Amino acid sequence: MPPAPQHAVLFEPVRIGPVVARNRFYQVPHCAGMGHAAPRENAAMRGVKAEGGWAVVSTEEAEIHPTSDISPSRELRIWDEHDVPALRLIADSIHAHGALAAIELVHNGFHAANRNTRVPPLAPGHMAALQGAPTQARRMDGADIDVLRRSHKAAVERAIAAGFDIVYVYAGHQMTLPQHFLLERYNQRTDAYGGCLENRVRLIRELLEDAREVADGRAAVAFRFAVDELLGDDGLRSDGEARDVVGMLSDLPDLWDVNLSDWANDSQTARFAPDEGFQEPYTAFVKALTDKPVVGVGRFTSPDAMVSRIKRGVLDLIGAARPSIADPFLPDKVRDGRSEAIRECIGCNVCVASDNANVRIRCTQNPTMGEEWRRGWHPERIPPAASEAPVLVAGGGPAGLECALQLAERGHPVTLAEAEKRLGGRALREASLPGLGTWARVAAHRVHHLRAHPNAAIYPESPLTAGDVLAFGFPHVFLATGARWRRDGVGASQRTAIAVSAGAAVFTPDDIMAGDHPAGEVVVYDDDHGYLGGVIAEHLHRAGCRVTLVTPAAEASVELHLTLEHHRVQARLLQLGVDIRPHRRLTAIDGVTTALACVHTDRRDELRCDAAVLVTERVPASVLLDRLTAEPDAVERAGIATVRAIGDAEAPGSLAAAVHSGHLAARTLGADAADMADALHRRDGPSVGGEA
Ligand code: ADP
Ligand code: SF4
Repeated sequence: MPPAPQHAVLFEPVRIGPVVARNRFYQVPHCAGMGHAAPRENAAMRGVKAEGGWAVVSTEEAEIHPTSDISPSRELRIWDEHDVPALRLIADSIHAHGALAAIELVHNGFHAANRNTRVPPLAPGHMAALQGAPTQARRMDGADIDVLRRSHKAAVERAIAAGFDIVYVYAGHQMTLPQHFLLERYNQRTDAYGGCLENRVRLIRELLEDAREVADGRAAVAFRFAVDELLGDDGLRSDGEARDVVGMLSDLPDLWDVNLSDWANDSQTARFAPDEGFQEPYTAFVKALTDKPVVGVGRFTSPDAMVSRIKRGVLDLIGAARPSIADPFLPDKVRDGRSEAIRECIGCNVCVASDNANVRIRCTQNPTMGEEWRRGWHPERIPPAASEAPVLVAGGGPAGLECALQLAERGHPVTLAEAEKRLGGRALREASLPGLGTWARVAAHRVHHLRAHPNAAIYPESPLTAGDVLAFGFPHVFLATGARWRRDGVGASQRTAIAVSAGAAVFTPDDIMAGDHPAGEVVVYDDDHGYLGGVIAEHLHRAGCRVTLVTPAAEASVELHLTLEHHRVQARLLQLGVDIRPHRRLTAIDGVTTALACVHTDRRDELRCDAAVLVTERVPASVLLDRLTAEPDAVERAGIATVRAIGDAEAPGSLAAAVHSGHLAARTLGADAADMADALHRRDGPSVGGEA
């Protein structure tokens, strides 16, 4: 089916040097926490993107030499011939679905601490490495630059041998040597590679020329270039030197892949960069300075926003990492006029966090992401059920919605009962807080499909009792009843309740999300360390409270270093005037003060406070499960074969975990124990000899 006329421009082919992209959808390189450790998983995941219609599918970064050893991060390697079979697996998987395969060759310079290879990191000069303190990098001499150029050329040759159509020279994210040489603050050299801009660009120019020479028309050469560091005059500016760089190199690469540096600026979350196309003010200048195609990103999920960038001459190709993770079939859905079926990225960076934690990629919106090979999951297809047994799902939060939708897809008649008027549970509750509005997409996508599904019946405003569940007698029951925040302060840092005087005003996040408003001086106690404590502090500040955030950790929302947000969280709270008190436990609340204890010395102090909000730990809402488990005979008499808690009702966790739990439950209903074991234990890894 041809695309709708207003979106047809997105499906025009684009020439990239010697190769042609079948349309304008370009999956730019993105990490996946798989890398050389899991080549089959990687190949399957990239293959699904190609199947979903992306014209170009890129790998994550591939280290070209042992002096670029980024372990324990799990990225690709192209150190020698042993890496080629695994890379070929990936290129073949992408080609199998008609897409072009691109590989992001990298030398990480002094961003790599070389923890495994135990050689000093390389940099333009002697300086502290960007990772692995107190490691220092050593200054590269002429011989090192020769080795670098030779290994980059060898990597291009190997990449072509592995089947890649596009090879990258990569200068971005503050993570790569060519960029380190470009940036004045890192490059204080006085030889031909330092000083004036022409000298600082020299290494990039040489790598591009080398790559073109080796590729010799067999593959396109892309240049990934970060045009702005958002550091003002302390860094590269898109209205400064970056323009000169593009002007100097103009038509040397076959493709310009432009973005922001560092990674935290490039992959900004919706909380801090709410707008689609947020990089346009920085990258828009590039097209005027080159005749070669330009690809750029900006969390694009709406085809109209994409068309606008093409029509206004901002971009030639619509780049996407996160939108392609949330919906690998985004291009096909646009082409087929099914844009409303797109699982839109919510900009939460759970995907980024998994890579930063060195585990396989996951996604809040797309529970199949990272499970394509290990569990054999496909984002758009699910095997039909062996039976048409009816199923009851109690609770319409992320877990219940996902479970009900996938069960309906499998052919089960599904009844979904939700206590509240609105479906969405925690996703909607949290979406009312500052910066979390996109969380509502998790519910909206699923509700949209469930409402239209012939196998699904939805009953809002239907709180179920155990008696109801027994009376209905569905053969299978999933309890997706969620969890509630604790009111007693028990959490990671203390396993006993905080002493609270009678009449003291104590709130939980559930109270705040339900619209309760403490007033005056408020202490937000964050022993959860995710996003919620910081977001509630911001919310209450905006509502007029004087807020102090107390946390046993060293920073507010400390776990958000994984989502690349922790710096922005501190900055926002501090700029708003929220007082952050780190390293403190909260020990007592008496209505006038809160008592604090230093987590290191136990030294005590006090804070004036009219109210406290305790963000510590959640308890599963298990009333239904407890009642049904206590009455096995009644359950059997009712004809109920299985009862299971899923999502937060099983174990409170992230939204991504709840969606995944609901999906897993739907996929495995009816599976025998052996199938389940297979699903959980299929293991990837380089085999002996390093071949995939
Ligand atoms: P999860 O993240 O696991 O999906 P949520 O807390 O987001 O959990 O959603 C749980 C949902 O279950 C909420 O919308 C809540 O109103 C609903 N719920 C809780 N108990 C019942 C019940 N007994 N009957 C129907 N719905 C319930
Ligand atoms: Fe988008 Fe979040 Fe999925 Fe990443 S994890 S692709 S940010 S929805």
